[in-house]
Amino acid sequence: MAKPAIQIDHLQITYNQGQVNEFKALNNVVAEIYPREYIILFGPSGCGKSTLLYTILGGIPPADGHMYVKGEDIYAYTPAEMNRYQQATIGIVYQQFNLITSLKVLDNVALPMIFLGQSVPDRNRRAAELLRRFGIPERVENKLPTMMSGGQQQRVAVARALVNDPEILLADEPVGNLDSISAEHVMDSFKEINERDRKTVILVTHDAKYLPYAHRVFYMRDGALRRIVVNPEKEQIKRVKPGETIVTEIEQLARLYPYAEPIDLKVKSVVNFATQTLTFSQLEMLEHAILSVLKGSMDDTLFQDFLMKSFAQGGVGLSLEQSRDITTKVFSLIRYSRDVERYREALHEDSAFMHQRKLIDHLLQYLSEEVGLQSSEAQLTVLRAAVAERVGGIITAEDFAQRLILPADLGGAAYTEKDASYIMRHLEKLIAQGGYIIQPNELLGAHT
Ligand code: ADP
Ligand code: MG
Repeated sequence: MAKPAIQIDHLQITYNQGQVNEFKALNNVVAEIYPREYIILFGPSGCGKSTLLYTILGGIPPADGHMYVKGEDIYAYTPAEMNRYQQATIGIVYQQFNLITSLKVLDNVALPMIFLGQSVPDRNRRAAELLRRFGIPERVENKLPTMMSGGQQQRVAVARALVNDPEILLADEPVGNLDSISAEHVMDSFKEINERDRKTVILVTHDAKYLPYAHRVFYMRDGALRRIVVNPEKEQIKRVKPGETIVTEIEQLARLYPYAEPIDLKVKSVVNFATQTLTFSQLEMLEHAILSVLKGSMDDTLFQDFLMKSFAQGGVGLSLEQSRDITTKVFSLIRYSRDVERYREALHEDSAFMHQRKLIDHLLQYLSEEVGLQSSEAQLTVLRAAVAERVGGIITAEDFAQRLILPADLGGAAYTEKDASYIMRHLEKLIAQGGYIIQPNELLGAHT
């Protein structure tokens, strides 16, 4: 496999080091990004996304750790080498476009080429070509940027970022200031730049609806890279190793599969719930089998036999105990998910409020009947409120679980950590099966 394009090595960024207002913005970030990957840095405002992006750009020397790009420690560069790196290897697009308002559009795009010593006709030809590609007509290229719409300005900025044919394209909330149609346009151009031009794209957003564009999502919080999530819907650049489970938390299903067919979602969700320890190939086999079960062509006896059959014989190769356990879980979940489907069918007749209430009732019924978890009235009150907030996208799954754990005098439901995590996982599964699309950006707030 190709060497990483970028290696982020125990990186620590401190603003105002040694002063009273010293602030650790990034703490021990470790990650690798491969050539031609599309990575999204995702997290709430202030978590350090922009800081990480500008560190890749070479703009913020680390207090500790290293940033290697194509194997070179960029913070060991001489000023001339750093200039060259920023002009030729990296392109960047900002939320505020950052075009030079006194220069006409064509010159804005051509400007970065001046530093690489290209002739005027070459520069203008290349700039015009890129402008056409991103849908900026010839008649406006001699106008000033401020005469254009935000969407057009951002497309000019994308053209400018690509003009020196960089290998890596960075983008900091590039659609944060655009209306939804222009935003989609710009997001599509990043996708094309990644897929057709084969550029590595690293994009910052706090809007979950863009996550499906990425090969991998880096979830950040409080200056830390909390986890890296592979998007199973995209063919991976960084290969998923055999034995590495690609389906991790149920929560991700709702975010990563917003457009999946309900039946696929259900298969994944059941597989995910039933097992966390199988290899990738075993998971695949299991998915096939569950699909057959859902389609009605495999009953529980056949299913359990299939699980126990060795891998060489086309089975999954599980022990008797494991097979029995999974069969029980799968069939009880399938029975249960049929209920969910019925609710889903009734969806369009119900108000959002009714639907939420049913979801809560369903969750509670499941918890008490299947799991044997009894809740007090006070706990139920908090749980209902928290479910409503979660479904409305006002809080994240983690915040939801936290809320359940908090003691009553702090507005929580005082569940144990284990119960809270269980409830959270179930709710996320229900959300996935019910086809809600969660948009936590309301919670995360406007980007500053
Ligand atoms: P994000 O892009 O995720 O919103 P940033 O990387 O911009 O977050 O900021 C991370 C944290 O670092 C924030 O708390 C912010 O206030 C702080 N910060 C950012 N830039 C500076 C700076 N130049 N000086 C001091 N603190 C900063
Ligand atoms: Mg930012």
